[in-house]
Amino acid sequence: MINMSAPTAKSRIFSYLDNNADAFARLSDAIFYFGELGMQEYRSAELMCSLLEDAGFDVERNPSGFETGFVATFGSGSPVVAIHTEYDANPSNSQISGVSDRSEIVPGAPGHCEGHNVNAAVMVSAAIALARTLADSELEGRIKIVGAPAEEQLISRPYYVRDGYFDDVDIALHPHILDRFDAEHGLIQASAISVDFDFHGQAAHAAMAPWDGRDALDALMLMDNGMAQFREHMEPGLTMHRVVTEGGEQPNVIPAKTSAWWYFRGPSATVVAPLFDKARKIAEGACLMTGCSFSTRVRAAVWPVLLDETVAKVIHDNIALVGMPDWTDEERGFARELQAKAGKAETGLVSDVTPFKGPAQQIPASNDCGDVSWKVPMGRVWFPANVPGVPFHHWAAGAALATSIAHKGGLAGAKALAATVVDYFLDPELLERTRSSFSEATNGVEYFPLIGLDQAPPKELNRDLMDRFRPLMEQHYPIQIPRFK
Ligand SMILES: [Zn+2]
Repeated sequence: MINMSAPTAKSRIFSYLDNNADAFARLSDAIFYFGELGMQEYRSAELMCSLLEDAGFDVERNPSGFETGFVATFGSGSPVVAIHTEYDANPSNSQISGVSDRSEIVPGAPGHCEGHNVNAAVMVSAAIALARTLADSELEGRIKIVGAPAEEQLISRPYYVRDGYFDDVDIALHPHILDRFDAEHGLIQASAISVDFDFHGQAAHAAMAPWDGRDALDALMLMDNGMAQFREHMEPGLTMHRVVTEGGEQPNVIPAKTSAWWYFRGPSATVVAPLFDKARKIAEGACLMTGCSFSTRVRAAVWPVLLDETVAKVIHDNIALVGMPDWTDEERGFARELQAKAGKAETGLVSDVTPFKGPAQQIPASNDCGDVSWKVPMGRVWFPANVPGVPFHHWAAGAALATSIAHKGGLAGAKALAATVVDYFLDPELLERTRSSFSEATNGVEYFPLIGLDQAPPKELNRDLMDRFRPLMEQHYPIQIPRFK
């Protein structure tokens, strides 16, 4: 409990953030220029950890073995409100910010082209604002800031949930960039399992002694045939797709090793997990026919994202309180220019807060924060820091990410996020209502990890690519370090 009214606490937080707008912008821009791929976010994570430590947070590094992850806590007692987000970039989308033509910072290098750099600044600045303004007010409650590596490959949060980092959490909040200021609820993203099937046989001379071989490519193809036959009998909403990543080396050698990379997707973890079981059965059949064996390597496995309606309402009220940024003519003009270059409708920037609506439409894409959302009630703050219509993972979605559009929209997002935490700290009844809406929405489904119990994070993911580009990108790193007062 805070010895302060909610309006007072929120207005202190808002003025703190306004006074630190410069630090917000520098933090967001620094992570933009680091442009680090998933699992290689060393600089980004270290910068955030040091800022949180300076603000009095206890920082745990290396959670679940993630070298670029962290869990930072502040305060004591309950409730415990977690804020989690991602800060990874994508390959090949280096783009100079503030320029509406395709123009790379470092040719061929990775870059932010969705805005996870701004997500990170929103999370960290909201956390620091809460700690700085509420520390001397008999604060009861804890904030837990969770840095989540490699969202673009759906990696980290299932490990955190599996390993207990959300066991003591009452509600979780996820800030994410968009072109509008919005809070949705309902099932919005899909469950997915990304897995390699490796087939093991025995090599032989394909002309001289094929009868001595056990053909791992035959096994792979027979599994593929079996899966094609099975497709007719899948439950509605399930999809699966694959590529062959290893098919043997040359025709006169019977392949001893082959691999196919499969994706299984669907509206819920409880239908996707059995689909993976079925695929294993089919692979087993293929191996029986060919005398081969197989093993699987799960790259990623996530639950669908479920956003809680009660949390969404609280977020929406705070979004309405904060309001949209005041865009200048210059910012609106840049947005229209960029939309024209990207071949999209020239609508400029969004002017109004998005009204609260009924349940969202579930889309087939996934996010690794889904696991969190089935463990505890979760809300997402969509904040307006990018240009409407520009497609994510396209250079045009990177062109505004270190401009005043990102800074102003991100700062507004940090305010709405921190204000939502204040409401949960001050109103125990709100937490009760949230618990009951969560149990209604999950309807008896108990969370279980889709990843293996002993599975370890893929530490080498993206390392070679990042090591190749980092020395060139370093020349563009910002000199000024963000400092929160
Ligand atoms: Zn994202």
